Amino acid sequence: MKAMKTLIYADNAATTRLAKEALEAMLPWLSEEYGNPSTLYGFARNPRKAIADSRNAIASAIGAKSTEVFFTSGGTESDNCALKGIAFRFPGQKKRIITSCIEHHAVLNSCTFLSKMGYNVTYLPVDRQGIVSAQDLEQAITDDTILVSIMLANNEIGTIEPVAKLAAVAHAHGLLFHTDAVQAVGHIPVDVQSLGVDMLSASAHKFNGPKGTGFLYVREGVDLLPLLSGGGQEGGRRSGTENVAGIVGMAAALNKHASSIDADARYIENLRCRLIDQLHNANCDFIVNGCKEHIPGSVSLSFRNIEGEMLLHRLDLMGIAVATGSACNSKETVLSHVVRAINVPSDYANGTIRVTLGMDNDEAQIDQISSAIIKILY
Ligand code: PLP
Repeated sequence: MKAMKTLIYADNAATTRLAKEALEAMLPWLSEEYGNPSTLYGFARNPRKAIADSRNAIASAIGAKSTEVFFTSGGTESDNCALKGIAFRFPGQKKRIITSCIEHHAVLNSCTFLSKMGYNVTYLPVDRQGIVSAQDLEQAITDDTILVSIMLANNEIGTIEPVAKLAAVAHAHGLLFHTDAVQAVGHIPVDVQSLGVDMLSASAHKFNGPKGTGFLYVREGVDLLPLLSGGGQEGGRRSGTENVAGIVGMAAALNKHASSIDADARYIENLRCRLIDQLHNANCDFIVNGCKEHIPGSVSLSFRNIEGEMLLHRLDLMGIAVATGSACNSKETVLSHVVRAINVPSDYANGTIRVTLGMDNDEAQIDQISSAIIKILY
């Protein structure tokens, strides 16, 4: 049998490796502790307590009350719950939602769905660095607006949006503000109080938790229409038997990040700089997309006169995993909506790849990534 080539995984924005601590925390809930948390006998007590403890831990990690956090199947569901949950409170009233043109498709396609149902949607532009301007938001607000949804960090270029400023604008007009923080939670400190948001989406598999688990923060008093009808779990906000192991694993993963978030950020940011420096030193012709305020270890690079997809496949053959656009979009060969929105010059735009580093990467791997790219380019 042919030996497996060692994988250099540099696509942590697509998903991350499950943390050992998360796996260990999950195991009992996948084996002997299989009780349904909603049942009335003693066997349900432990899973019920595990959910409550996880909710407390997650709420305290983001500065929320436990009653303000409910569990979902991930980022896509959290985004859908937030946008549709607010919109469906105003059926047939042609209300408006304001979002940005660089959101994840979980938000963009929820907006497309809502616009087909008669809602109005405004898509704010971004500048060359991918930043939404508070002034553009101010000007876009109309009397029919009910909700603003702007992501905290972009999944393709890593740009961190000025969410606190944008939320303040929305609130000055009495509007609700949602942020998709799927790429931010676990990577940068996220505090719902200082951000001033009303709703916040997160997904465990982006911060070394399990796939298929996430949460939505909903500020006390915000009235969401639940999308799922059923047994009334999660205080009626999200019916369906809870994914106990997933929830416990998510809390363990977030807890692990909380203790080392700054040191980890410094470590992977150094790796990011090393990669960029090496490519510059080899005189590669490329642009670094995004801005100074970015998710640690995340970099979008546009190389001149080369196909990003070709780069991806050649790197793949060398055992290196990177992305072109966003992972959830990888079947598309057209330019990603984010690359288009930030106006990458046309001779560079097609050559865009995304490298997203994590704590499993080291300097030797960065050297391998840069020399592989240099080899392909020359
Ligand atoms: N929002 C953002 C910004 C993302 O990057 C992703 C996934 O890539 C999602 C939402 C969807 O999250 P999930 O994969 O948990 O459904």
